[in-house]
Amino acid sequence: RLYNEVQDLKGNIRVYCRIRPFLPGQSKKQTAIEYVGENGELVVSNPSKLGKDTHRLFKFNKVFSPAATQEEVFLDTQPLIRSVLDGYNVCIFAYGQTGSGKTYTMSGPNLSSKEDWGVNYRALNDLFQISQSRKSSIIYEVGVQMVEIYNEQVRDLLVIDTSMHSVKSTTDVLELMNIGLMNRAVGATALNERSSRSHSILTVHVRGTDIKTNAVLRGSLHLVDLAGSERVDRSEATGDRLREAQHINKSLSALGDVIFALAQKNSHVPYRNSKLTQVLQSSLGGQAKTLMFVQLNPDVESYAETISTLKFAERVS
Ligand code: ADP
Ligand code: MG
Repeated sequence: RLYNEVQDLKGNIRVYCRIRPFLPGQSKKQTAIEYVGENGELVVSNPSKLGKDTHRLFKFNKVFSPAATQEEVFLDTQPLIRSVLDGYNVCIFAYGQTGSGKTYTMSGPNLSSKEDWGVNYRALNDLFQISQSRKSSIIYEVGVQMVEIYNEQVRDLLVIDTSMHSVKSTTDVLELMNIGLMNRAVGATALNERSSRSHSILTVHVRGTDIKTNAVLRGSLHLVDLAGSERVDRSEATGDRLREAQHINKSLSALGDVIFALAQKNSHVPYRNSKLTQVLQSSLGGQAKTLMFVQLNPDVESYAETISTLKFAERVS
């Protein structure tokens, strides 16, 4: 193994928490997150200050404070991504309520500025650089796929079909991702509305062939921007909105159940309960490595959602 650091990380499932900063114009708001520790601790305070649960402590593999840069976040993700070149299957998720920074972490706010690039562009860039610079006899081929799952239906965002698109450089990937993002918007009256209620999955397949021995190794990377985890008030939602909410609830809890079963090393893993877990089945479990970014809003108004997000994360970590 070329990347031993991956072996040092304990277990195959890890959880990183990231708190987004207050947005411009939000600066005088009160925060519900009182403490971010160096070792993955997080203390959340209950704004009501009533009862026993005024403060709650959570602990994850890592917590990124609102000041963390895209680069810092990527540095802690890189070993996992590089293990794809050694033949591992890796799944990276962003989980959290709408507006908590899932898309910021996975894609970034702005493609034209490299500093803003999220995990997916940095990952692809890194895989190309490493695969081309390695002084080994292995030749790598890279293919990408982009799909969206909306109301339990899988849709190819690169249009032609759900097959692989061979890519040779980061520029190729940027072009494909732009097509994907544009297609995601088609048919949706408001892009943000729709994108917060569907899961988007960018898949990278890597095939390495050793030209001396002809041995082939395969690895894959799934980068998943999940639908918003906020609970929709059943009394208010009707029709399409209610149906969407039910599908989201179902698929997010199915994902939680699968990761929980894997963390517990249960013999039965319930992959069949949602499209999301079916699509990802071969890349979750076994030798596969999973990373969940748990995204949080800092403000007190989000307290209830923050606790619900943290409970989800606590269960799977
Ligand atoms: P989500 O995808 O979870 O709905 P977004 O990624 O769209 O949330 O983030 C919501 C808003 O917050 C966007 O305007 C985004 O640019 C901003 N934002 C999120 N995370 C950060 C961050 N770490 N630093 C600066 N701005 C952020
Ligand atoms: Mg988003």
